[in-house]
Amino acid sequence: MQDLQSILDEALTSLSSIDNAALLEDAKARYLGKAGLLTERLKALGKLPADQRPAAGAEINRVKVAVEAALQNQRDALAQRQLTQQLASQSLDVSLPGRGLSPGGLHPVTRTLERIQQLFHSLGFDVADGPEIETDAYNFTALNIPENHPARAMHDTFYLDPRHVLRTHTSPMQVRYLESRKPPVKVIVPGRVYRCDSDMTHTPMFHQVEGLWVDETVTFSGLKGILTDFMRRFFEQEDLKARFRPSFFPFTEPSAEMDIGCVICQGEGCRVCSHTGWLEVLGAGMVHPNVLNPLGIDSERYIGFAFGLGVERLAMLRYGVNDLRLFFDNDLRFTRQFR
Ligand SMILES: [Zn+2]
Repeated sequence: MQDLQSILDEALTSLSSIDNAALLEDAKARYLGKAGLLTERLKALGKLPADQRPAAGAEINRVKVAVEAALQNQRDALAQRQLTQQLASQSLDVSLPGRGLSPGGLHPVTRTLERIQQLFHSLGFDVADGPEIETDAYNFTALNIPENHPARAMHDTFYLDPRHVLRTHTSPMQVRYLESRKPPVKVIVPGRVYRCDSDMTHTPMFHQVEGLWVDETVTFSGLKGILTDFMRRFFEQEDLKARFRPSFFPFTEPSAEMDIGCVICQGEGCRVCSHTGWLEVLGAGMVHPNVLNPLGIDSERYIGFAFGLGVERLAMLRYGVNDLRLFFDNDLRFTRQFR
């Protein structure tokens, strides 16, 4: 019995002085492990005379429980000390100012789209929206684009199935819009369009703005006037030069492409305008009777003009961006410049 009491005293003294978890586990093994001091006493019980066993067993158990309690105490104390140290080393000053959330900004393409819409709205144009998945009938046939036209080829157009495409231009909306309304109509249709193309000046997805004005008094000179006025206001250059070159689109007749004086070099000649002093900015023309007549619109009475401009093209010129792909890489260093 005296032996047990001295084991308990020794255990309590040594456990309370241990200050790391590994040494604490060693101490546990010394008293309670397979070959521990208390375990050996329990094993030795069998050698005692039968009448002494119950008292001796109870005493060993009492000591064992006391040692386990002391072990647990010391474990808790160590954990508490570790936590206190950790809190002290990672002090947090809640009175410091926060990092702040900087405000976001509009993407340059969005800014350009909004600017285009605002300018045409001030000229009396409505704004409409159309589907990006089109049937080949709307995307091609209704626009007077014949079956064998190269624009229909797989290497230019994304086909979803033999009858459906990702629209290659916003022009199908000329047909959709006129199907549901009687002239006069005056509308622009901004939106995404898709073509199988990717390099410095082409991306598989880009934005177009379609314009359509159908009325009894629409003229080609009116078309030139509106587009020239728009470009001057878009680039904020009162004396911006403009010229129209004859061109061909199946759904307009006559057709033209519009050039403006280079806004980078003011006509002196630079890399952007290939040293010509001119920049091609859009295609336009008078709506073809083959588009109007199937819609029940009398092309002898009503005249329409239409145009389509590339939004990224205008954004590149306005902001001096030389690689179209930058708009879609989502590099914050680029987009932050337009905040
Ligand atoms: Zn130039």
